[in-house]
Amino acid sequence: MFANLSDRLTASFKQLRGKGRLSDADIDATVSEIRRALLDADVALPVVRAFAANVREKAKSAEVSQALRPAQQVIKIVNDELVEILGGEARDLHFAKHPPTVIMLAGLQGAGKTTLAAKLGRWLREQGHTPMLVAADLQRPNAVTQLQVVGEQAGVPVWAPEPGNGVGDPVAVARSGVQQARDKQYSVVIVDTAGRLGIDAEMMQQAADIRDAVQPDETLFVLDAMIGQDAVTTANAFAEGVGFTGVVLTKLDGDARGGAALSVRGVTGKPVLFASTGEKLSDFERFHADRMASRILD
Ligand code: GDP
Repeated sequence: MFANLSDRLTASFKQLRGKGRLSDADIDATVSEIRRALLDADVALPVVRAFAANVREKAKSAEVSQALRPAQQVIKIVNDELVEILGGEARDLHFAKHPPTVIMLAGLQGAGKTTLAAKLGRWLREQGHTPMLVAADLQRPNAVTQLQVVGEQAGVPVWAPEPGNGVGDPVAVARSGVQQARDKQYSVVIVDTAGRLGIDAEMMQQAADIRDAVQPDETLFVLDAMIGQDAVTTANAFAEGVGFTGVVLTKLDGDARGGAALSVRGVTGKPVLFASTGEKLSDFERFHADRMASRILD
C-alpha cells in the first residue's frame, strides 16, 4: 500500500533539495505535484484540495523562508498534514460504564467484518477483557460457520442462531446474543452483521434495526482500503443509513493505491481506530496516524 504515492511524494521534494531559499513558484510546483500524486492515489477530491491549500499556505510562511534547509521544513509540513488527515492521535474504544460494551460491525460484504470480529475479540482478550462474538450475518451462506471457526481460533465464544434464539432473524439473534453476554457477564460483545456487495436499502435497514435492538456503544464501519474512490460513497451511505462511531480499515497489506485510508477521516469526520493488515488473526493493530504518515513518507 502507498508505494507509488511514497515514490511520487519523495520525487516532488527532490526539486526542493539543496535550495537555500524557496520561491513561491518552487512551492507552487511542489504542491501541484503533491496534489496530482494524491489524486492518482485515489484520495477524495475535497481532501486533496484542503491538503494542498494547507501545505501551500504553511510552506509560504516566514518560518520556512527563513529556515536553513527549507526543503526539510516542507517535508515536515507534508508529514504533519498527513497525520492530520489520517486523524491525529488515535482514540481508545469507548467502553460502557455497565458492561457488556456492545460493538457492532457494519460494512459491505467482503470488507472483512467476520475476520475482524475474531481479530478484535482476540485483541480484547489479550487486553484482559472477556469478549463474545455474535453471528448476526445470516445473509452470506457461510458467515455463521466462518465466525465459529475464526472465533475458535481466537479463543472467543460465538453466539450463533439456533432454534429458539432467532433462526433466520438477524435482529433476534443480535438481541439474544447481547442478552446472553449480559447474563453470562461477558465484558464486550461484538456483533457481526450482514453486508451486500453494493449498497442496498434492505441491508442498510437491517443494520439499522440491529443497531436499534442492541444499542451499540461503538458502531465500527469496516472499510476495505482497496476499494479506491468507492470508499467515499460507501462511507457516506453507511454514515447516513446506520451511523457509525469509528472506522476500521482492512486489507492495508494490499498493493492498491490507498486513497480510502487517506480520505475516510476527512470525508466522514470519524476516527480510524484499527487497521487490519492481513488474513491472519494477528494481522491487526491500533491505527496510528503518525506511523502511517511516516510509512508514506519513508
Ligand atoms: P465480510 O464479508 O465483511 O465478513 O468479510 P470477511 O471477513 O469474510 O473477509 C473477506 C475476505 O477478505 C476473506 O477472504 C478474508 O480472509 C480477507 N481479509 C479480511 N481482512 C483482510 C486483511 O486485512 N488483509 C487481507 N489481505 N485479507 C483480508
